[in-house]
Amino acid sequence: MKSQEIRNQFLEFFKNKKHQVVPSAPMVIKDDPTLMFTNAGMNQFKEFFLGNGTPKSNRITDTQKCLRVSGKHNDLEEVGMDTYHHTMFEMLGNWSFGDYFKKEAIQWAWELLTEVYKIDKGILYVSVFEGAKDEDLEMDKEAYDLWKEIVPEDRIIMGNKKDNFWEMGDQGPCGPCSEIHVDIRSSEEKAKIPGRDLVNADHPQVVEIWNLVFMQYNRRANGSLEKLPAQHVDTGMGFERLCMVLQGVKSNYDTDVFTPLIREIETITNSKYDKESSPADEDGKVSVAIRVIADHIRAVSFSIADGQLPSNTGAGYVIRRILRRAIRYGFTFLNTKEPFIYKLVHTLVKQMSVAFPELKAQKNLIVNVIKEEEQSFLRTLDQGLALLDTVIKNTKGKVVSGEKAFELYDTYGFPIDLTALILSEQGYKLDEKGFETELQKQKERSRAASQVSTGDWEELNQDVTEGFIGYDHLSADVKITRYRKV
Ligand code: ATP
Ligand code: MG
Ligand code: MG
Ligand code: MG
Repeated sequence: MKSQEIRNQFLEFFKNKKHQVVPSAPMVIKDDPTLMFTNAGMNQFKEFFLGNGTPKSNRITDTQKCLRVSGKHNDLEEVGMDTYHHTMFEMLGNWSFGDYFKKEAIQWAWELLTEVYKIDKGILYVSVFEGAKDEDLEMDKEAYDLWKEIVPEDRIIMGNKKDNFWEMGDQGPCGPCSEIHVDIRSSEEKAKIPGRDLVNADHPQVVEIWNLVFMQYNRRANGSLEKLPAQHVDTGMGFERLCMVLQGVKSNYDTDVFTPLIREIETITNSKYDKESSPADEDGKVSVAIRVIADHIRAVSFSIADGQLPSNTGAGYVIRRILRRAIRYGFTFLNTKEPFIYKLVHTLVKQMSVAFPELKAQKNLIVNVIKEEEQSFLRTLDQGLALLDTVIKNTKGKVVSGEKAFELYDTYGFPIDLTALILSEQGYKLDEKGFETELQKQKERSRAASQVSTGDWEELNQDVTEGFIGYDHLSADVKITRYRKV
C-alpha cells in the first residue's frame, strides 16, 4: 500500500467514526512564546484541553507535521543513526474532547490496525501504565481490562511513568497512556529473545507506533493531582513507522516516503545507499549521510514553506543548523563540494504536495533559499579548512589548543566535530577540555538567552541564538561531548 493511501485510510477511518478531519497546523509556531515548533499532534488543541475555548467538533482527526529538534523532544542525534526517528515527521491523530474515552480509543485503534490495515496481531504488543507509588497513582486497570478482551495477556506490557504517563507540563492535564508497539524482526531473531523484552529498548525493529493518551487528571500548581471534570483522548501515530510496517520493510527509509529522495541522492552524488550497513562502520557512514540528508531536506523544506527561513536567531537558527548538518554530512562522507541538496526539492514536492500543497506553492522559494545557504556554508567550510591548515602548521606537538578550535567554531562557524575529525585524520589531537572550557565561558556570557524545558512546552527567550542542537559525531572514533543547552 502506498503511503498516500495509508494516510487517507487513517483519516477516512476516523471520519467514519464521526471525527472532523482538520488540516495540519503549521510546523513552525508563530503565536506561542512557549513553543517554537509543533512537536505533537495535540499542540494545536492545547487550549481546549486547558478549558479555554471549545473545538469545532468534540471528535477531530488529522495528520500533523511535527519537528523534534529542541526542548524535551530532541531526536536530532538519533536521526540518520537509527532508522525510525526523524526530525520532521507526520503524526496521525484522533482526539476526543470530553467525548469518548478509553473504550472506544482502544477498540478503534485495534480495529484500524488489524482489520483495515490488516496488521498481523502476532506482531503487536501494547503497554499499560503500571502506576506510581510515589504519587499514589494506581495502575491503569481500566485500560488493562479493555486490552485483555482483545489481546492475549502476554502481549500486554506494564510501563512506567516515563513511557506511560503523559503530562503537558508542570501543570495542566495529564494521564496514563497505552502504547502500541510492533515487532517486525525475523522469526529467527524472535526465537532468540521475546519481543516483549525489547519494547522500549531502542531496538530498530521493535518500535512504538502509536500512543493513546487518556487525560483524566489535572496537575495543580502545588503538584497534586485532581480528577478532570471532562476526560479527553489524545492519540499520535508515527506515519512513517506505520508505512514501514505496512510496506513490509525494516526501516522508515525503505518506505516510499523516503526511497525517491534516496535514489535521487544516490544519482546526484554518485553514492550507494546500503540499508544493511552499520553506522559504526566506515562504509556505513555513507548511508548515515544519505539518511541525514533525506531526512533534513524535509524538515528544512517544510519550515520554509511555513514561512520560517534559515537565520541567525530563534527558530530560523534551528533550521539553519539542521540544513548545515545535512551539508556537512554530504561534504564529509559523500564528497559533495558543490550545492546539491536544493536539487532534491523537486522530488520532495512531487512526493508530498498532494497532502501538503504549501510545498508546491513555495517551491521556488525553497529551492532558492536552500541553494544560497549551501553556497555560503560550503564557502565557510572551505575557509575553515584553510584556517585549520594554518593552525596545524603553527601547532607545536600534536595537540591543537581548545582556544584555537573554539575560535574556528565561534568566529568562522566551523563545526567542532569536523575540526576533531580532520585533526585525527592528520594524526593530531584536539584539546577537548580546553574547548569545553571556552564553550562554557561563552555559555555563561549568553546565559540570559537560555531555554528552560518544562515538559512538552519550553520557555523560550526570543533572542536565543545558540545551542538547540547538539553536535554529533561524524566519526565513531571522534569522542566529542555533545553540547545541548538544557
Ligand atoms: P519514541 O519512544 O520512539 O521516541 P515517543 O514516545 O517519543 O517515541 P510520542 O511522543 O509518544 O513518541 O509520539 C507519538 C508517536 O509519534 C510515536 O508512537 C511514534 O510512532 C512517533 N514518533 C515519535 N517521535 C518520532 C520521530 N522522531 N520520528 C518519527 N516518528 C516519531
Ligand atoms: Mg521519543
Ligand atoms: Mg516512547
Ligand atoms: Mg510514546
